[in-house]
Amino acid sequence: MVVVCGGGIVGLTVARRLAKEGYDVTLVEKEENFGLHASGRNSGVLHAGIYYTPDSLKARFAIEGNRRMREFVKERGIPINENGKVIVAKDEEDYGRLLKLYERAKRNGAEVYLIDEGELKEIEPYARTFGKAIYSPRTAVVSPGEVVRAIAEDTLKSGRVRAMLGVRCLGRAGKGKVRTTAGTLEYSLLINAAGAYADRLAHTYGVGLHYRIVPFKGTYRKLARPDLVRGNVYPVPHPRSPFLGVHFTRDPYGNVFVGPTAIPAFGRENYGVFRGIDAEAPAILLRDAVMFFRNPLFRYVALREPRKYFKPSFFGACRWMLKGLRYGDIVPARRVGIRAQLVDWRSKEMVMDFVIEREEDSIHILNAVSPAFTASLPFADYLVENYVLGNP
Ligand SMILES: Cc1cc2nc3c(=O)[nH]c(=O)nc-3n(C[C@H](O)[C@H](O)[C@H](O)COP(=O)(O)OP(=O)(O)OC[C@H]3O[C@@H](n4cnc5c(N)ncnc54)[C@H](O)[C@@H]3O)c2cc1C
Repeated sequence: MVVVCGGGIVGLTVARRLAKEGYDVTLVEKEENFGLHASGRNSGVLHAGIYYTPDSLKARFAIEGNRRMREFVKERGIPINENGKVIVAKDEEDYGRLLKLYERAKRNGAEVYLIDEGELKEIEPYARTFGKAIYSPRTAVVSPGEVVRAIAEDTLKSGRVRAMLGVRCLGRAGKGKVRTTAGTLEYSLLINAAGAYADRLAHTYGVGLHYRIVPFKGTYRKLARPDLVRGNVYPVPHPRSPFLGVHFTRDPYGNVFVGPTAIPAFGRENYGVFRGIDAEAPAILLRDAVMFFRNPLFRYVALREPRKYFKPSFFGACRWMLKGLRYGDIVPARRVGIRAQLVDWRSKEMVMDFVIEREEDSIHILNAVSPAFTASLPFADYLVENYVLGNP
């Protein structure tokens, strides 16, 4: 019996693949349904392999994940917006970065084109750039909740996966045993896919003790004039920020979301101003304070991003990307998600790639940040093939 803790897209796809290999799986999810956290609260962008360091797991799985997820949603009749994405530059300095990003995307094997203003106008009539823009025809957008539901359905219909909803994995209870809020479960293998809580669960196994999760809140707004965007309009990521920057994303239903921000959050599920702040808040604040003094990237983000709670600052961050965008075109949206960013506490550096740690009878997935939604299908295959089948 394999126990998987965490019923987000990562836990589900891993359970699904294990079931295909003939394993019996107990999937433990603390909420009453699957995908209620990052997996159901993200932008739904199927990334196309542009940004990642060559040789990283992210680079390895984003392109294949994008292809397989697009196939999956089409087989299921799930709506998808396949209008692609443009990345635009603000000024000359930004344009230099855009050219470097283009080279990196090419090295990663992503399908990208450098396009001039005329071509940009045909693809995204309202987008503005300095010099050229990058065009990624393979970037697509889905509704993440719909994808999670379809993957969950697939996973459960195998008959080999038993879901325990509303049950939390609390930690190791001796060899081959995990303590949960519904009693102790025995297993031959445990897989920790607990997203924002993965470090806490791993620590009970003595795994990844030098890692801590630092949560960042991603808030969104919407465009009142969705006709301004057909696919995705992104800025070039700022070299001093580990995140992609506020961008425009049109979902398959014609809503254009603007965001997400990357504001240091006070809790792992701190979705509102106060909602989700729990007893861990002082520890997280202390972590943020240490990061502020020790990590220039974190300091850059922490000084700038919270301003985007306020509309003038949010508008200032995105107005330059679209011609004719007016202050009143940006309206509130309910979507908000938390990025569970892993930090190596020895160096105080943010970890940029997915991390998998295995000890005797447990495997811990520790940094399933973006583009883990896109990459989930091949990532699950990789994990099962290399850490379960290859290392029984
Ligand atoms: C704002 C935002 C935008 C993003 N945009 C994109 C995007 O456009 N494209 C993309 O590819 N990726 C995107 N991502 C990243 C993507 O959402 C995540 O990489 C992915 O959802 C991670 O999946 P997960 O299953 O690891 O985490 P989660 O979906 O958070 O799942 C973890 C699950 O574990 C459960 N859990 C936690 N602790 C326990 C426990 N102790 N016991 C039992 N269950 C537990 C939780 O309730 C949760 O359901 C975005 C993320 C955010 C936050």
